[in-house]
Amino acid sequence: MEKNCVFCQIIRGERPAEVLDQDDAIIVFRDITPHAPVHILIVPKKHIQSLNDLTEQDSRLISNMILRGKMIAESQSISQSGYKLLFNVGRGGGQVIFHLHMHLLGGW
Ligand SMILES: [Zn+2]
Repeated sequence: MEKNCVFCQIIRGERPAEVLDQDDAIIVFRDITPHAPVHILIVPKKHIQSLNDLTEQDSRLISNMILRGKMIAESQSISQSGYKLLFNVGRGGGQVIFHLHMHLLGGW
């Protein structure tokens, strides 16, 4: 947990978010500046800066994030129309919040 990290603050309940789902390891909430009709973030509760910082120990976590993305796409009724699962890595890759997260974009 990082004190000044926006996503850690959401995980701790110190900052509001439209949380759709969560368990011990993952929290799912809507992006506050959506770039698609459906724009949802799948976020590990463990503070990992970016995909560059993933290790072998995180392999189960990352696969669970992708499976969760699939499940949320189904529950949002966009799995048939199609969607994207996206990681932005580093500033040049468009990453704004330096707490690992996967974007679910769809609903077009
Ligand atoms: Zn964080």
